[in-house]
Amino acid sequence: LLLAEHYSWVLESAGIEVQIIESPDEAVSDLLSFKPDLLLLDMHMPEYSGSEVSGVIRQYDQLSSLHITFLSAEHDIQQQLQALSFGADDFITKPISNQNLVSAVKLRLARNRDIKSLIERDSLTGLVRHGAIKDTVYSEFEKMKRSGEHFCVAMVDLDHFKNVNDTHGHAVGDIVISTIATLLQKRLRRSDRAGRYGGEEFLVVLPDCSAANAKRLLESLLNAFKNIQFSGPESQFTCTFSAGLVCSAGGFADSDTLIEAADQALYQAKHNGRNQVVILEDM
Ligand code: GH3
Ligand code: MG
Ligand code: MG
Repeated sequence: LLLAEHYSWVLESAGIEVQIIESPDEAVSDLLSFKPDLLLLDMHMPEYSGSEVSGVIRQYDQLSSLHITFLSAEHDIQQQLQALSFGADDFITKPISNQNLVSAVKLRLARNRDIKSLIERDSLTGLVRHGAIKDTVYSEFEKMKRSGEHFCVAMVDLDHFKNVNDTHGHAVGDIVISTIATLLQKRLRRSDRAGRYGGEEFLVVLPDCSAANAKRLLESLLNAFKNIQFSGPESQFTCTFSAGLVCSAGGFADSDTLIEAADQALYQAKHNGRNQVVILEDM
């Protein structure tokens, strides 16, 4: 742990956010809530081997793409091969100078960011895809269970979008989709997240936000969006969306239930005539 504290200090001094996992037993829950881009794992720990810990971590879908780097003084190739077979990605050899540690970690972080963005981001909108935004809801839910800090989730769906495609063509439809994506990205706070949940459906996650504020925000987004004039081949047109909103304070069992509830509120918004935001509590 002393060594972990030293490494932590070195990396934090280089501007990298670090969290020490105090005990391997807490590794999975710590990783799910902290969501690091890289895990540095010692090959040898008092209670478990690094291979055992990475083997456990890899059993979790949400952690299957986490980059695991072993710190190893091992010259024993067998040990390293075993670690690889348990899900390690690569090794950094100990002892290592502070400067080399920082470079080694920064290189891996930069490469992981590139790969992650290719995997997670949708090319039309630049937003994260279905799986990644669901993961965000999951980790906000876990964070909420610990900190008690509530967040809101909104399911946003374009209204009568099939008509837009039928009337103005698929390419123009694509422009409408990328426009709402840009609007979401520009208007949300830095800590908020939006993802492309489906074709013309978006999931928005608003941490540390009351239901009333979330509703105000979505209504102002809707107001901005419906005033945008789009140009089709033959005519100008406008488009609206409907949104279903839920707050995590509603006592939901898990993040999937929360998303289903947002979907239900969206259904209600559609049913009420579209072009509106419905909070689940309003129903
Ligand atoms: P509602 O108001 O009930 O949501 O009606 P809707 O027409 O929007 O709903 P529906 O689910 O029937 O149609 C969604 C349409 O969105 C159908 C599909 O072709 C279109 N769509 C999905 N993804 C894309 C895309 O990437 N680009 C374009 N142009 N259209 C898409
Ligand atoms: Mg729709
Ligand atoms: Mg839809």
